[in-house]
Amino acid sequence: MITIKTPAEIDLMRKANQIVRDTLNLIGDSIKEGMTTKQLDRLAYDYIVKCGAKPSFLGYNGFPASICTSVNEQVVHGIPSEKVIIKDGDIVSVDCGSIYKGYNGDAARTYLIGNVGEDARKLVEITQQSFFEGVKILREGVRLGDLGHAIQSFAESHGYGVVRALVGHGIGRDMHEDPEVPNYGRAGHGMRLRKNMTIAIEPMINMGTHDVYMLDDGWTVVTADNLPSAHYENTVLITEDGAEILSL
Ligand code: MG
Ligand code: MG
Repeated sequence: MITIKTPAEIDLMRKANQIVRDTLNLIGDSIKEGMTTKQLDRLAYDYIVKCGAKPSFLGYNGFPASICTSVNEQVVHGIPSEKVIIKDGDIVSVDCGSIYKGYNGDAARTYLIGNVGEDARKLVEITQQSFFEGVKILREGVRLGDLGHAIQSFAESHGYGVVRALVGHGIGRDMHEDPEVPNYGRAGHGMRLRKNMTIAIEPMINMGTHDVYMLDDGWTVVTADNLPSAHYENTVLITEDGAEILSL
Protein backbone atom coordinates (compact mmCIF):
# COMPACT_ATOMS: atom_id res chain seq x y z
CA MET A 1 0.00 0.00 0.00
CA ILE A 2 1.24 3.49 -0.84
CA THR A 3 1.02 5.86 2.10
CA ILE A 4 0.98 9.66 2.04
CA LYS A 5 2.52 11.04 5.22
CA THR A 6 1.08 13.68 7.52
CA PRO A 7 3.32 16.50 8.79
CA ALA A 8 3.60 14.75 12.17
CA GLU A 9 4.67 11.51 10.50
CA ILE A 10 7.20 13.38 8.37
CA ASP A 11 8.73 14.88 11.51
CA LEU A 12 9.20 11.40 12.98
CA MET A 13 10.72 10.19 9.72
CA ARG A 14 13.11 13.15 9.77
CA LYS A 15 14.26 12.08 13.21
CA ALA A 16 14.60 8.39 12.27
CA ASN A 17 16.63 9.37 9.22
CA GLN A 18 18.84 11.79 11.13
CA ILE A 19 19.73 8.91 13.45
CA VAL A 20 20.62 6.77 10.42
CA ARG A 21 22.65 9.62 8.91
CA ASP A 22 24.56 10.16 12.15
CA THR A 23 25.18 6.43 12.53
CA LEU A 24 26.63 6.29 9.02
CA ASN A 25 28.77 9.37 9.73
CA LEU A 26 30.07 7.71 12.88
CA ILE A 27 30.94 4.61 10.85
CA GLY A 28 32.59 6.79 8.22
CA ASP A 29 34.76 8.44 10.90
CA SER A 30 35.69 5.08 12.45
CA ILE A 31 36.10 2.62 9.59
CA LYS A 32 39.67 1.65 8.79
CA GLU A 33 41.95 -1.14 7.66
CA GLY A 34 42.17 -3.93 10.24
CA MET A 35 38.68 -3.51 11.70
CA THR A 36 36.14 -6.28 11.34
CA THR A 37 32.69 -5.66 9.90
CA LYS A 38 31.34 -7.01 13.20
CA GLN A 39 32.95 -4.04 14.99
CA LEU A 40 31.07 -1.68 12.68
CA ASP A 41 27.85 -3.48 13.53
CA ARG A 42 28.48 -3.01 17.24
CA LEU A 43 29.11 0.72 16.74
CA ALA A 44 25.85 1.06 14.86
CA TYR A 45 23.81 -0.91 17.37
CA ASP A 46 25.14 1.05 20.34
CA TYR A 47 24.61 4.43 18.69
CA ILE A 48 21.07 3.74 17.43
CA VAL A 49 19.97 2.44 20.84
CA LYS A 50 21.60 5.41 22.57
CA CYS A 51 19.44 7.69 20.38
CA GLY A 52 16.27 6.01 21.65
CA ALA A 53 15.65 4.19 18.36
CA LYS A 54 15.71 0.56 17.24
CA PRO A 55 17.97 -0.93 14.56
CA SER A 56 15.37 -1.94 11.99
CA PHE A 57 17.51 -4.57 10.25
CA LEU A 58 18.10 -6.62 13.41
CA GLY A 59 15.77 -9.61 13.18
CA TYR A 60 14.18 -8.38 9.91
CA ASN A 61 13.23 -11.66 8.19
CA GLY A 62 15.79 -13.18 10.56
CA PHE A 63 18.71 -10.90 9.59
CA PRO A 64 21.27 -11.26 12.40
CA ALA A 65 22.76 -7.74 12.58
CA SER A 66 21.98 -4.00 12.77
CA ILE A 67 23.67 -3.06 9.48
CA CYS A 68 24.54 -4.75 6.21
CA THR A 69 28.23 -4.67 5.31
CA SER A 70 29.03 -5.53 1.69
CA VAL A 71 32.69 -5.55 0.63
CA ASN A 72 33.96 -5.12 -2.97
CA GLU A 73 32.05 -7.58 -5.23
CA GLN A 74 29.30 -7.88 -2.62
CA VAL A 75 26.38 -5.71 -3.73
CA VAL A 76 24.12 -5.59 -0.67
CA HIS A 77 22.95 -7.56 2.40
CA GLY A 78 26.40 -8.73 3.53
CA ILE A 79 26.35 -10.00 7.13
CA PRO A 80 28.79 -8.36 9.58
CA SER A 81 31.32 -10.91 10.81
CA GLU A 82 34.37 -11.22 13.04
CA LYS A 83 35.96 -13.07 10.15
CA VAL A 84 35.69 -10.20 7.68
CA ILE A 85 38.69 -7.94 8.22
CA ILE A 86 38.66 -4.68 6.28
CA LYS A 87 41.72 -4.30 4.06
CA ASP A 88 43.53 -1.43 2.42
CA GLY A 89 42.00 -0.81 -1.01
CA ASP A 90 38.55 -2.23 -0.15
CA ILE A 91 35.29 -0.49 -0.85
CA VAL A 92 32.74 -1.23 1.90
CA SER A 93 29.02 -0.57 1.46
CA VAL A 94 27.14 -0.07 4.72
CA ASP A 95 23.34 -0.04 4.77
CA CYS A 96 21.60 1.11 7.96
CA GLY A 97 18.05 1.50 9.19
CA SER A 98 16.42 2.74 12.35
CA ILE A 99 12.89 2.89 13.74
CA TYR A 100 12.03 5.95 15.82
CA LYS A 101 8.60 6.08 17.47
CA GLY A 102 7.28 3.65 14.87
CA TYR A 103 8.78 5.33 11.77
CA ASN A 104 11.67 4.17 9.61
CA GLY A 105 14.87 5.69 8.33
CA ASP A 106 17.00 3.94 5.69
CA ALA A 107 20.27 4.98 4.03
CA ALA A 108 23.52 3.52 2.70
CA ARG A 109 27.01 4.71 1.90
CA THR A 110 30.05 3.10 0.27
CA TYR A 111 33.33 3.87 2.06
CA LEU A 112 36.80 3.92 0.51
CA ILE A 113 39.49 2.24 2.62
CA GLY A 114 43.01 3.60 2.19
CA ASN A 115 44.50 3.32 -1.27
CA VAL A 116 41.53 2.43 -3.43
CA GLY A 117 42.26 1.93 -7.13
CA GLU A 118 41.14 4.63 -9.53
CA ASP A 119 38.51 2.35 -11.12
CA ALA A 120 36.74 1.53 -7.85
CA ARG A 121 37.00 5.12 -6.63
CA LYS A 122 35.24 6.30 -9.78
CA LEU A 123 32.55 3.62 -9.39
CA VAL A 124 31.74 4.90 -5.89
CA GLU A 125 31.61 8.52 -7.06
CA ILE A 126 29.37 7.79 -10.03
CA THR A 127 27.04 5.66 -7.90
CA GLN A 128 26.57 8.56 -5.48
CA GLN A 129 26.15 10.99 -8.35
CA SER A 130 23.54 8.75 -10.01
CA PHE A 131 21.36 9.17 -6.92
CA PHE A 132 21.54 12.96 -7.25
CA GLU A 133 20.83 12.79 -10.99
CA GLY A 134 17.58 11.10 -10.00
CA VAL A 135 16.77 13.53 -7.19
CA LYS A 136 17.32 16.52 -9.52
CA ILE A 137 14.18 15.71 -11.50
CA LEU A 138 11.95 14.92 -8.52
CA ARG A 139 8.81 16.83 -7.67
CA GLU A 140 5.14 16.03 -7.29
CA GLY A 141 3.81 14.40 -10.48
CA VAL A 142 7.11 12.98 -11.78
CA ARG A 143 6.82 9.35 -12.86
CA LEU A 144 8.82 6.47 -11.39
CA GLY A 145 10.00 5.60 -14.91
CA ASP A 146 11.51 9.09 -15.24
CA LEU A 147 13.38 8.67 -11.96
CA GLY A 148 14.70 5.23 -12.92
CA HIS A 149 15.65 6.46 -16.36
CA ALA A 150 17.63 9.40 -14.94
CA ILE A 151 19.65 7.10 -12.67
CA GLN A 152 20.14 4.36 -15.24
CA SER A 153 21.14 6.57 -18.16
CA PHE A 154 23.74 8.38 -16.06
CA ALA A 155 25.29 5.16 -14.68
CA GLU A 156 25.25 3.40 -18.03
CA SER A 157 26.87 6.39 -19.75
CA HIS A 158 29.92 5.49 -17.64
CA GLY A 159 29.77 1.86 -18.80
CA TYR A 160 28.39 0.47 -15.53
CA GLY A 161 25.73 -2.15 -14.85
CA VAL A 162 22.58 -1.07 -12.98
CA VAL A 163 21.32 -3.84 -10.70
CA ARG A 164 17.75 -4.85 -11.56
CA ALA A 165 17.19 -7.70 -9.13
CA LEU A 166 16.90 -5.27 -6.21
CA VAL A 167 15.17 -1.90 -6.11
CA GLY A 168 14.34 1.04 -3.83
CA HIS A 169 10.99 1.30 -2.05
CA GLY A 170 8.40 3.34 -0.28
CA ILE A 171 9.13 3.75 3.43
CA GLY A 172 7.19 4.82 6.51
CA ARG A 173 5.75 2.70 9.31
CA ASP A 174 7.22 -0.23 7.39
CA MET A 175 10.77 -0.23 6.11
CA HIS A 176 9.57 -1.59 2.78
CA GLU A 177 6.31 -0.11 1.52
CA ASP A 178 4.90 0.33 -1.97
CA PRO A 179 5.81 1.47 -4.49
CA GLU A 180 8.93 -0.31 -5.73
CA VAL A 181 11.45 2.29 -6.87
CA PRO A 182 13.67 0.81 -9.60
CA ASN A 183 17.01 2.36 -10.54
CA TYR A 184 16.15 1.76 -14.19
CA GLY A 185 13.13 2.62 -16.25
CA ARG A 186 11.50 4.17 -19.28
CA ALA A 187 10.89 7.89 -19.35
CA GLY A 188 7.19 8.77 -19.35
CA HIS A 189 6.15 5.44 -17.80
CA GLY A 190 5.16 4.33 -14.34
CA MET A 191 3.28 5.74 -11.41
CA ARG A 192 3.31 9.44 -10.64
CA LEU A 193 4.89 10.47 -7.36
CA ARG A 194 2.72 12.47 -5.00
CA LYS A 195 3.44 15.17 -2.48
CA ASN A 196 4.33 13.81 0.98
CA MET A 197 5.24 10.35 -0.26
CA THR A 198 8.50 9.10 1.23
CA ILE A 199 10.71 6.77 -0.80
CA ALA A 200 14.14 5.21 -0.38
CA ILE A 201 16.16 5.68 -3.55
CA GLU A 202 19.14 3.33 -3.62
CA PRO A 203 21.20 2.82 -6.76
CA MET A 204 23.29 -0.37 -6.69
CA ILE A 205 25.83 0.05 -9.48
CA ASN A 206 28.24 -2.60 -10.74
CA MET A 207 31.55 -2.04 -12.51
CA GLY A 208 30.65 -4.82 -14.96
CA THR A 209 27.49 -6.82 -15.57
CA HIS A 210 24.25 -5.94 -13.81
CA ASP A 211 23.72 -9.65 -13.06
CA VAL A 212 23.94 -10.73 -9.44
CA TYR A 213 23.45 -13.91 -7.41
CA MET A 214 23.04 -14.82 -3.76
CA LEU A 215 25.66 -16.60 -1.66
CA ASP A 216 24.82 -19.76 0.29
CA ASP A 217 24.31 -17.72 3.48
CA GLY A 218 20.93 -16.77 2.01
CA TRP A 219 21.62 -13.03 2.29
CA THR A 220 24.75 -11.74 0.60
CA VAL A 221 24.17 -10.59 -2.98
CA VAL A 222 27.31 -10.54 -5.15
CA THR A 223 28.10 -9.56 -8.74
CA ALA A 224 27.99 -12.40 -11.28
CA ASP A 225 31.40 -11.40 -12.69
CA ASN A 226 33.01 -10.71 -9.30
CA LEU A 227 33.76 -7.10 -10.23
CA PRO A 228 33.13 -4.44 -7.55
CA SER A 229 29.75 -2.90 -6.77
CA ALA A 230 28.75 0.28 -4.92
CA HIS A 231 25.57 1.32 -3.12
CA TYR A 232 24.24 4.75 -2.15
CA GLU A 233 20.85 5.36 -0.56
CA ASN A 234 18.79 8.05 1.08
CA THR A 235 15.19 8.38 2.21
CA VAL A 236 13.53 11.20 0.27
CA LEU A 237 10.34 13.21 0.80
CA ILE A 238 8.49 14.29 -2.35
CA THR A 239 7.41 17.94 -2.20
CA GLU A 240 5.37 20.22 -4.42
CA ASP A 241 8.38 21.62 -6.22
CA GLY A 242 11.17 19.16 -5.47
CA ALA A 243 12.37 16.75 -2.83
CA GLU A 244 13.83 16.85 0.66
CA ILE A 245 16.55 14.31 1.39
CA LEU A 246 15.77 13.20 4.96
CA SER A 247 18.94 11.19 5.62
CA LEU A 248 21.55 13.78 4.62
MG1 MG B 1 18.94 0.52 3.04
MG1 MG C 1 16.34 0.59 1.35
